Formats: sequence, C-alpha cells, structure tokens
Amino acid sequence: MHTTPDTLALIGNTPLVRLKGPSEATGCDIFGKCEFANPGASVKDRAALSIVEDAEERGLLTPGGTIVEGTAGNTGIGLALVANAKGYRTIIVMPDTQSKEKMDTLRALGAELVTVPAAPYSSPCHFVHTSRRIAEETPGAIWANQFDNIANRRAHITGTAEEIWAQMDGRVDGFTCAVGTGGTFAGVGLGLKAKDEAVCIALSDPHGAALYDYYAHGELRSEGSSVAEGIGQGRITANLEGAPVDTQFRIPDQEALDWVDRLLREEGLCLGLSSGINVAGAVRLARELGPGKRIATILCDTGFRYLSTLYDPAWLTAKGLVRRTA
Ligand code: PMP
Repeated sequence: MHTTPDTLALIGNTPLVRLKGPSEATGCDIFGKCEFANPGASVKDRAALSIVEDAEERGLLTPGGTIVEGTAGNTGIGLALVANAKGYRTIIVMPDTQSKEKMDTLRALGAELVTVPAAPYSSPCHFVHTSRRIAEETPGAIWANQFDNIANRRAHITGTAEEIWAQMDGRVDGFTCAVGTGGTFAGVGLGLKAKDEAVCIALSDPHGAALYDYYAHGELRSEGSSVAEGIGQGRITANLEGAPVDTQFRIPDQEALDWVDRLLREEGLCLGLSSGINVAGAVRLARELGPGKRIATILCDTGFRYLSTLYDPAWLTAKGLVRRTA
C-alpha cells in the first residue's frame, strides 16, 4: 500500500475490469475502464486537469484566475475540482436539459453555474458560445474550450491509452467508445494505434449524432435522437481531427439501456447511459471481430449522477424506454 501525494494525483490510473456478461455473450474478453473511479466520478477529470495544466504552462492562467467552460456537466465538475485544488474560480455554462444531479454537484463544488436553454450549435445562445463570451468578458479568465483544445485528447494519448495497453499486457484487439468532444475516442484511438496499428478502433455513436454517417459515408448527417448526456457530436472538433476510425456503429438508447441494466443487476455496476452505448458498441465489435478477441471500452461516469433520470421509472417511460430486466 502507498499514499497519494495530493487529490490531483487521484486523477487517472483507473482500474480496468473484465465485464462478465458482455464477455460471455460474445466469447471475447470485454474490459471496461472504470472512469467513474476518478475523484469527479467521470472520464472528464483527465481532460480538465490536462487543459488547466496546459493553460498554466502557456502562462494564460495565473494565480487567482478564472476558468470558464461550456459543458454537459462532467467537464465542469472536473474543472471545479481541479480549480479548487489549485486556487482558481470556475464559471460553468450548461444547457438546462442536463441532469439535476450534475447541476447540484457543480453548485456544491462552488462553481458559478449559468444555465442556458438548449440551442443548436449555429445559435449564438448555444452553451459553448455563451461560455466563450463570458470568458472574453471576465478579467483574468481562460476559456477551457474542451471541444477544440487538444490538451483534452492529449490526456487520453498519454494517460488512458497507455494505461489500457499496460493493463491488457499489450494484447488489445479492439477499442470503442462514443464521442462528446472526441477527446477520449481520438486520444485512446491514436494512443493504441501508436502501440499497434492492427488494433481495431470503432466509433459507437448514439442516435442524433452525425459522426456515424460521416465515417460511414463521408457526410455529417444525424438520424433520430438520444437521451444520453455528454455524447452526440454534429461536427469534426479539433480533438477528432485525424482520429483513426476502422468501423462504426449507431447504437439505439434501448440497446444501451439493456446493458446498463444487466451490468447493474448482474455485476453491481451503476453506470450512466453513455457507458451503456460504449458497452453495446463493444459487444457489436466483439461480434464483428469473432470469439477470443480482447476489447476495451470506457465506463464514462457513475449512474448516481442520473437517479432523477435514467433510474427514475416515470422518466424512462416518458422517454419511451423500457427497463426489461426489472
Ligand atoms: N460520457 C459522458 C457522461 C460525458 O459527460 C462525456 C463528456 N462530455 C463523454 C461520455 C464523452 O467524452 P469525450 O468528451 O472525451 O468525447
């Protein structure tokens, strides 16, 4: 046993767990990277720390400074934690469609929360543009800009991908996950390809996102919609540029929810819906690659963040989703 020098050193080096149900269903070994084990309970702590350290190294963020960001919530939680540990202030802009738990958590962490109505990216009222404007108007502030700041994906090239490679003893046949900013997907994809060009990198896109069609047919086009928070991208962000993509899946919410339910009931894992999209994608990838393969995916955040949504039967029914295993 050993001690950890400070809270920021708790970010990363997450466990990689073999998922029994998905593995048995496919005859493969499917592993989930337990990103809910980060101090902010999501994969975004890694990007938050990397973005803040990059801004410090560039001299953009100085003592007493402010970090401003537009986020579905998890990046804000990561940034607020990192900011508290380093003595910065945070202003977080979030669409009002995100879970109450994320908003309450941000307030509890001391972030200043600004909520805006959901708007298309082309609208100046979109949460990303609002956050940029607030950063420009606030003295001593930086805009974290997680979508187009590649300090985000660097955290996954040097962190997540290296960890997965080491934890799987350099025997990795495939990797898949969904895209919010693309930092995780592109970073892990690039990092694993640098180790072994043969690792198959698959995109698992929710409905309502445009990337499935982009990688399958070269056209950014979305179809349907998803209730998954934090994922679903309609453009090629800077983090996505040059991402290796060997194959792609479009995963319905119900397929993802079925895996979330099975993992909870059979393996005691309480996850959010983006993790379900990832596990469903890993199962599809396993079926494409054939038995005996070793596949990794990301368990992005904790289900405790969605007690008022995904884990509320009335909410699920209103969204047309069914808990089949309850
Ligand atoms: N799942 C959840 C719950 C998230 O909040 C995010 C980040 N928005 C992602 C997945 C996707 O991560 P990334 O931004 O690295 O694509």
